[in-house]
Amino acid sequence: MSAIQQNLKERNAKYASSFTQGDLALPPAKKYVVVTCMDARIDPAAAYGIDLGDAHVIRNAGGNAKDALRSIIISNQLLGTTEIILVKHTDCGMLTFQNADARGVVEKNLGSEAGQAVSNLDFQPFPDLEQAVKDDLEFLKANPAVSKQATVSGWVYEVETGKTRQVA
Ligand SMILES: [Zn+2]
Repeated sequence: MSAIQQNLKERNAKYASSFTQGDLALPPAKKYVVVTCMDARIDPAAAYGIDLGDAHVIRNAGGNAKDALRSIIISNQLLGTTEIILVKHTDCGMLTFQNADARGVVEKNLGSEAGQAVSNLDFQPFPDLEQAVKDDLEFLKANPAVSKQATVSGWVYEVETGKTRQVA
C-alpha cells in the first residue's frame, strides 16, 4: 500500500468514526452546482460555504464549463439543481501554457504515439482570467441543454487571500 493509500485508510477511519450524516438525500438540498478548478489550494466547501449535502461540486483543470457540461446537465436535469456557480481562480495553471506546450510535454514524457493521441486535444488554456469566466458563462447560456431558467454567475477566487469576488 502506498503512503497515499495508507493516509486515506487511516484518515477515513477517523472520519467515519464520528460520521453522523448518512441520511442525507441524493439531490442537493440547496439545488445548486459549483464548477471550480481542481487546484489543490482550493477548499470549495470551506471557501464557498458549502455544507455537506447542499450542492454539487464539479472540479476540473481550470474550472472549465465545457469539460463540466455532462455533469452540469445531469445536475440540473436529473438531480434538480437550478443555479450554476462558476469559480475560476488567480494563479491558475491554465494561464501558464498553450496547447502546443501541453502536447509537447506529453510527447516528450510518453513518446510519439502519446503525442499523436493528443494532437487534436484542446487543453483549453486561457490567457485572461476574467475573460475566461465570461466566455464560460456565454458558453453555458448559449447551450440549449442548459435551462434558460437556471441562474448562472461567474466568480474569481484569489488563492493569495482566500477571497472570492463576482465578475459576471
Ligand atoms: Zn486552476
